[in-house]
Amino acid sequence: MDKQTLLERIFGYTQFRPGQEELIDGVLAGRDVFGIMPTGGGKSMCYQIPALLLPGVTLVISPLISLMRDQVMALKAAGVPAAFINSTLNEAQMRLVYRNLLAGQYKIVYVAPERLDYGGFGSIVEKLSVSFVAVDEAHCISQWGQDFRPSYLRILNFIDSLPRRPVVGAYTATATKQVQEDVERILRLRDPVRKVTGFDRPNLFLDVIRPEKKDEELLRLLAGKRRKSGIVYCATRKKVESVCELLCDHGYAATRYHAGLPEEERSENQEDFLYDRKTVMVATNAFGMGIDKSNVSFVIHYNMPKSIEAYYQEAGRAGRDGSDAECVLLFNNGDIRTAQFLINNSSDNEELDPEQQEMVRQQDLARLDAMIGYCKTGLCLRGYILEYFGQKHPEVCGNCGTCRGDFEARDITREAQMILSCVKRIHDRLGYDVGQTLIQRTLQGRKDKRLLEKGLQELSTYGLMKNTGSTEIRMLIDHLEMDGYLRTDPENQAVGLTPSAAQVLFHGRQVQILVRKEPEEKLPAAMKKLLSGPEAELLDALKELRNDLAREAGVPAYVIFSNATLTDMAKKQPKTMTEFRKVSGVGEIKAAWYGTAFLKRIQKFRDENE
Ligand code: ADP
Ligand code: MG
Ligand code: ZN
Repeated sequence: MDKQTLLERIFGYTQFRPGQEELIDGVLAGRDVFGIMPTGGGKSMCYQIPALLLPGVTLVISPLISLMRDQVMALKAAGVPAAFINSTLNEAQMRLVYRNLLAGQYKIVYVAPERLDYGGFGSIVEKLSVSFVAVDEAHCISQWGQDFRPSYLRILNFIDSLPRRPVVGAYTATATKQVQEDVERILRLRDPVRKVTGFDRPNLFLDVIRPEKKDEELLRLLAGKRRKSGIVYCATRKKVESVCELLCDHGYAATRYHAGLPEEERSENQEDFLYDRKTVMVATNAFGMGIDKSNVSFVIHYNMPKSIEAYYQEAGRAGRDGSDAECVLLFNNGDIRTAQFLINNSSDNEELDPEQQEMVRQQDLARLDAMIGYCKTGLCLRGYILEYFGQKHPEVCGNCGTCRGDFEARDITREAQMILSCVKRIHDRLGYDVGQTLIQRTLQGRKDKRLLEKGLQELSTYGLMKNTGSTEIRMLIDHLEMDGYLRTDPENQAVGLTPSAAQVLFHGRQVQILVRKEPEEKLPAAMKKLLSGPEAELLDALKELRNDLAREAGVPAYVIFSNATLTDMAKKQPKTMTEFRKVSGVGEIKAAWYGTAFLKRIQKFRDENE
């Protein structure tokens, strides 16, 4: 059998995605490989297909228990003999897995890195012929990555301990140079086939919103999504609690996940989400690595994450099956302070000396700056992210908040003069600059303690913009900064005038900005391509059938068929098994198991609509 046949028969897809073929061919030719692809890019298949074609067994090293369980479940559903070895197995289950393993019953075994030198695993593996070791989420090996796992450092020892060195493959979605170098060096990859694919995920609609009230905005965003599955990320445990409560109070089937919850509750909540018993997961960044749930149709960030890497990874959990999905970030300036606080107070990594510690912190702050830039940019959001990952991109993507928004030119000379002169007056009075918030509050004529203490209520600019909203003022300040009239000191966030400000203040220079017109109605991209009329009805029926089958089999619904597959099915409306196999995502085994049921349902639909 060859890789193309496997792709079609096991996984039910007709075409490889970019990078997959090269990485698979590399392994089959006996070369080490290093695959860097975005989340949802299809890395699993790059090691699963070679595993099926190579003699002996493939070990997949993977950092998270949920990820292993998920992937093994999906493989089994596709008819592939696979198993996992981690701390969730009890003694008897472990013995059974080992026995089957020795009997050559598995082609793919997922192993937690801690297990590599634990509980006799080594002595079992000695008796096997391991042809290929695949290291998933390989960035965990790097201290510079965001998910450093010391246990990943054991992988090299383990590989060295094998009687014959297997082919080694590493896979990650982290594209920074430093992490790439670390992975290659620490795993001692031998002249690997490197493949960095594009980072674009065109099916993701990206947006940043600056709401006056985040809770209200969140509810507004969720209003049209009652039946959709999604994740809401928050920066802190406390926020997770309050947002989860808010959503439950408004009748959403929401659940929560953060490191402060007991282990059992965490895994219970996670399962509720994976099995669609709960549709919204409210979580900190502790949730999600290795969550392969393919039908997540939105990821909303209630707070700004600490880096573009983290943001894109978390947002990338939407739309993994290729269906249209939305990624929205709710931003305000408080998020900057929270993120800075989290970075400056993050617990020290014991494996680093103080100097390295400080370097990590500086890197984190630099990454945060880039993230803030994303929230404030008036340019194409997708372009911003691709630019960050060093990838070329068109100026306009057509599927982000910026590109889809309407723009209008607005003359803001008057507002600009008010803001700039307020900044000047504050500086003249105090002898130093102050932060955005204080400027904004002075302009609004507020009576804060801090403001009164500094005597800012006596300035002639006090209260000049008392009818303008805080967000609006802050946006104007941002624009003036982007246009080069203001500058924020990176040390203390104080905002001061630049020399060009004089042009506006004293020489009558006009200031115009392109503002994004709030769209009349925020229709997500997904709405446009949705099936209409009877097809949509059929899709609902097919989903219902899938959910019933999933419940019977005790697996999450997407393990049976993804939403993208059902959508294709509703479009193609196959009549025969041969036609059924042509639906994207329908492999041989799944066709054999579920084909009849789905064909019957489609026939029934046809009869009803005759
Ligand atoms: P990654 O590990 O890179 O984040 P996954 O391996 O979990 O991504 O794959 C994401 C989704 O893409 C899965 O639902 C998978 O079935 C699907 N997929 C992978 N390869 C293909 C392909 N060639 N054609 C269509 N879908 C694919
Ligand atoms: Mg993966
Ligand atoms: Zn865009």
